[in-house]
Amino acid sequence: MKDGHYDVAIIGAGMVGATLASLLSRSGFSVALVEAHEPAAFDGEADVGLRVSAVSPGSAAILNEAGAWKSINSERCRAYRRMQVEDGAELDPLLFDAPLFNLERLGTIIENSLVRWSLWQVVSSAGRVDIFCPDKLAGIETGAEQNRVSLKSGTRISADLVVGADGATSPLRKALGIRQDYWAYNQHGLVAVVGKQKPNPGVAWQRFMPRGPLAFLPLLDGRSSIVWTRPSLEAERLLALDNEAFMTELDTASSGWLGRVENCGPRAIFPLSMRLSESYAAPRTVLLGDAAHVVHPLAGQGVNLGFADAAALTETLIQARFSGADIGSASVLRGYDRWRRAESEAMAFGMHGIRSLFSADALSPLRRVGLALVKRSWTLKDMFLQRAAGLGRNAPRLARGSTLSDLMGQQSFPN
Ligand SMILES: Cc1cc2nc3c(=O)[nH]c(=O)nc-3n(C[C@H](O)[C@H](O)[C@H](O)COP(=O)(O)OP(=O)(O)OC[C@H]3O[C@@H](n4cnc5c(N)ncnc54)[C@H](O)[C@@H]3O)c2cc1C
Repeated sequence: MKDGHYDVAIIGAGMVGATLASLLSRSGFSVALVEAHEPAAFDGEADVGLRVSAVSPGSAAILNEAGAWKSINSERCRAYRRMQVEDGAELDPLLFDAPLFNLERLGTIIENSLVRWSLWQVVSSAGRVDIFCPDKLAGIETGAEQNRVSLKSGTRISADLVVGADGATSPLRKALGIRQDYWAYNQHGLVAVVGKQKPNPGVAWQRFMPRGPLAFLPLLDGRSSIVWTRPSLEAERLLALDNEAFMTELDTASSGWLGRVENCGPRAIFPLSMRLSESYAAPRTVLLGDAAHVVHPLAGQGVNLGFADAAALTETLIQARFSGADIGSASVLRGYDRWRRAESEAMAFGMHGIRSLFSADALSPLRRVGLALVKRSWTLKDMFLQRAAGLGRNAPRLARGSTLSDLMGQQSFPN
């Protein structure tokens, strides 16, 4: 950093922005990180939080390079090796077992608060990242040589590249006037921590029903974190029920899986939407994570796409530096934009398609043929799983096992 000037200024230190800050600082870039709220310290003694994520193996590799995986993995997280998908009608369960796809695990269920706290520890202790927190973006001025960012506190910084990792309602995206396509699903996801008669054996279970899927994700203590997608009014009704009445309805919806519902913690609901920005790049600016795209949570891919964005941008900027290019130039950012937009749009429309397929009437020919195809076709299952694991053909190299040193060829950047 020189006179308030940075290589990269990142707005938003959620799971995605903080991952990028760590990856870039470890690659030798000077980084400013602006965040409105400091994350709360993770408390392993408190009960499991309501927000958890199914983190793919590719994302775990990225978090490892960001320096956070070791501390995340030493706390309460649960690896799962089997995914079981049912349709609540006549379909036998679709089973995905990690070893059959040459994977050690399909993913790991982790509390969002643990991921955020571990990353915060990394970026605030390394001393390589200048953190502006609590502070907020107040305005941005784009220029040919650099962008200038003003913060609510009155601080002004400049950077070769400004990154918007400021979430689904991204103030940076709005300030730049980047258009977004938005589909409200008129559905909410209801989340809670639930204990059944039998402990969850480490299986991510999902039952698709015409009005929305219900997922049970395994936790370390044998309980499950549920995401129950319902039409919005129905979700509000479920939220308002007393615990006994709610458990009775959940029992019916999850009948046949691990016996009765025996306990249930607090509940919360979140509106579901699909949002796709028309571009992820603007003059000396890029978007990533939910600021760029929001997908339906039915396959737990939202933050995984964001981690892959962070890894892809890191790879793009390292290459640009070594080739002597300006990291904020339009040609460099165009590469990132095309790469990540193609991946996120494929995932978003894939989720949209799966949702529509399972919402169709159980007897509809489209649904029957679609499901039979997925069930029979090893290629389709493999393709789906490799993508969900974050290891598809277009996954960033950091997700597929390369290290930052590999990307930098063990060299340091030219001055
Ligand atoms: C019910 C549900 C279940 C889900 N389950 C999964 C799952 O299993 N797996 C998965 O991959 N994804 C899942 N997702 C999606 C996932 O939660 C999101 O994709 C992820 O949290 C987005 O992270 P982010 O860092 O991009 O954005 P955010 O978490 O929104 O972070 C944005 C950050 O920017 C900061 N900020 C905002 N504005 C400003 C400003 N003006 N100045 C400074 N800072 C600012 C905020 O304080 C925040 O810290 C789920 C989503 C839902 C709703």
